[in-house]
Amino acid sequence: MKSFAYLLTVLCIIVLASCGGGGGGGGSSDDPLEETTTTTTTTTTTTLADTGAGVGTSSRQVIELGTGTSFTIPSDTISFLVSAFGDESTGIGLASLTNPNGDDLFVTGDYPLAAFDLAMVAGGYGNVLVPIVTDHSASVAGDWRFQYYAGTNDIKLTLRTGSTPTSSVLQLKPYLTGTKYSTSDVEGAMAIVKDIYEKAGLQIEIDSVTVLSDSKFTAVSSDFNNATTAELVSTGSADRINLFFIEDFSGEDAGTLGIAAGIPGSLGIASNRNGVLNSLEAHVLGGSLDIQLLGETAAHEMGHFIGLFHPTERDGRTFDPLADTPECPISKASDVLSGPQPSDCLGFGGENLMFWQGDAVIDQTSLTTDQVYIINHSPIAR
Ligand SMILES: [Zn+2]
Repeated sequence: MKSFAYLLTVLCIIVLASCGGGGGGGGSSDDPLEETTTTTTTTTTTTLADTGAGVGTSSRQVIELGTGTSFTIPSDTISFLVSAFGDESTGIGLASLTNPNGDDLFVTGDYPLAAFDLAMVAGGYGNVLVPIVTDHSASVAGDWRFQYYAGTNDIKLTLRTGSTPTSSVLQLKPYLTGTKYSTSDVEGAMAIVKDIYEKAGLQIEIDSVTVLSDSKFTAVSSDFNNATTAELVSTGSADRINLFFIEDFSGEDAGTLGIAAGIPGSLGIASNRNGVLNSLEAHVLGGSLDIQLLGETAAHEMGHFIGLFHPTERDGRTFDPLADTPECPISKASDVLSGPQPSDCLGFGGENLMFWQGDAVIDQTSLTTDQVYIINHSPIAR
């Protein structure tokens, strides 16, 4: 069956192999921790306009930390993301994150281990998003310290500050590759995305579709470290949620519905992790493009990009760190080997936008209060 669970499957394999269920480490066990005295050298500030009705004023900064080991969180912080970039062949990511009270979030459990294990390392990119759950305060103002694994060679901080949002605005930028499908196909899917998020109380603004005519982008690998995929995603706008509608995935990836570049992606930072890929060809059912399913896939991948996990994973034993998302245990699966399917999990998350498995029949558009909280507070929103 077609699946958009591919990214998380990859993440789980990588992380389970390297973390081993220990106290939360993103790199392989023999990576020495780096701790240097280098401090922040460059600051790039982006202040966003406040144009949405009823929206609080907020601004986003991307701060270059280089290989520093600390940053300062202002008292009006809404959220922040620490992004670690590095050599995909070695351990990267943060090994500790200590708030001004002296608590290492990875030790105290304030940063849920489930999220940590799932999100930390994805081949050349690792990150930590705060908040990742609703009872985690991002507003511990002062100096935060961190350690990182040896493969890390660049760290950036995306910081959103301002008034507490009640209904944030998400700005989406769609792209189309190939020649088989039209901008109206993408616009149809984007209208579905808009409906799903607006139904949850968020505000959506959508740029016009950008057509990328270079034929090398028609079908690309789902590996974000692949040179062509990386080039494609790196064209994404730094201050948008970039949704790439590709004609298809290449090679053995063909048939994959979609994939996000990270959980979350590199919010606010132009990179090979700054977007999601959705395959048009994989959404052809019965000879025609299923726009509803395509829209649900794009909305699902966008949820990952913002920082949402699957409420229930394929194994029926792994669940996201949010308190109010419905769980569908393996005992509900009609076929244990296939894992809990949407039809097995009606009333237990099968209708949730972020369920691990897509379904062309069941409406999968619901979001919980906690999921909306994470989206509302996202560094990429305003
Ligand atoms: Zn997914």
